[in-house]
Amino acid sequence: MTHSASPSRKETEQPPAAAEEPPSGSEEPPGKPALTTDNDNRAIMSSSPLPATDEQWQDWQWQMRNRIRTLADLRQFHPGLDFEEGVSRAMERFPMAITPYYASLIRHWDERDPIYRMAMPDAGELIDPFFLQDDPLEEDHDMAVPGLIHRYPDRALLVSTTTCAMYCRHCTRKRVAGHRESTLSHNRLKAAVAYLEAHPEIHDVIISGGDPLTMPTPALERILKELRSVRSIDIVRIGTRTPVTMPMRITDELVEMLRRYHPLWINTHFNHPTELTTAARAACAKLADAGIPLGNQSVLLCGVNDDPRIVEQLCRELTRNRVRPYYLFQCDLVRGVEHLRTPLSRGIEIMEYLRGRLSGLAIPTFIVDAPHGGGKVPVLPNYVVSTSPTHTVLRNFEGMLVSYPEPNLSAVAQLRTALPQAATVYDLSTGRASAIQPATTTRHARRAGRSSSNKRSAGVA
Ligand code: SF4
Repeated sequence: MTHSASPSRKETEQPPAAAEEPPSGSEEPPGKPALTTDNDNRAIMSSSPLPATDEQWQDWQWQMRNRIRTLADLRQFHPGLDFEEGVSRAMERFPMAITPYYASLIRHWDERDPIYRMAMPDAGELIDPFFLQDDPLEEDHDMAVPGLIHRYPDRALLVSTTTCAMYCRHCTRKRVAGHRESTLSHNRLKAAVAYLEAHPEIHDVIISGGDPLTMPTPALERILKELRSVRSIDIVRIGTRTPVTMPMRITDELVEMLRRYHPLWINTHFNHPTELTTAARAACAKLADAGIPLGNQSVLLCGVNDDPRIVEQLCRELTRNRVRPYYLFQCDLVRGVEHLRTPLSRGIEIMEYLRGRLSGLAIPTFIVDAPHGGGKVPVLPNYVVSTSPTHTVLRNFEGMLVSYPEPNLSAVAQLRTALPQAATVYDLSTGRASAIQPATTTRHARRAGRSSSNKRSAGVA
């Protein structure tokens, strides 16, 4: 298939090489949209104005070479696009790159579109209240040796590159991602490995960036081989958004290489169901078929996925595609993302909505990555209503209150006089009653329906 419109300008450029430049920085993983998933990859291809054969389109290096990097590129991709002045200033401050594939997922070239919001620079990136920082997680302070962040006791994160297929507007590492595209030098890799050898308490290394899968396969393999030479490292994880922004990167050659370095885990970064295209699902399937467990780290973003139904659909689709929803991140206090931040209460509300509707397997942990390098803090709706030395009162997703007795309460058992109905939480926390239930719930209706049908089938009127 050939894509219409004007000639591509970058056919002769090379993809980012496995250069010798060190990075400094990090990765982490990022709607109101239609609740549909675009399953038609061919439609996606044909909606790109760049001229490309099928073969070129499926070539990740072609996608990298032809990323949209400038306003001129954008106008070529979407003629007539009008920008407010703040957009170019935002681009000067924080680099832009969008693969033709990901740009083709944009349905409305304006802020209503979740893909647009994640990919396109916005004047809102210039909002700069005093509490935002370039490095709120203080990763640079926890850089044990250049490129290796050691914050938690048993884990370390290796910044392998500052290059990404796309520069997400919500990136935690906006301070480094794309400012100078480079990859970890040989010397720095050796220094990182020496540090890991000297710290056998580290059992888990996350290869991050930037996006490690923007590196050529041999360059990534060099890193894996070095890490695997450290006996104390049990698992290696790779954080990558390429299954979302450039799924053609998941080639047979890559997967064959990766499967030689088990136990290997991959965390990817889908934020919206629209991103789970046919190509993205095929990429995930290839990785899963190679025995690589897949997790997903989403970021809660204003106007992208700050709607419980969208997160529910995303989690269902991910699970169906063998990707475990792992974390749902509150936006970090990073300079340049203020326009995408949501209230913390919204995340709690979404988690409240998910519990009971989705299998626990499909429910991510809602996380605030605490400022000042405080690390990941899980945040939950409050399910513990009251505690006493003898009982804990819990709330379920329907609003039912139940009393959970502590062990060895024989004396307290005498308190359990048969109150006809629990009246208060106090009754529950002292063991005088064991539950307070809403009068009507779907579960009760289901039970009532079942019991009357059982009675009918048993011949009871
Ligand atoms: S893919 Fe790159 S730009 Fe996007 S969140 Fe990850 S590190 Fe940041």
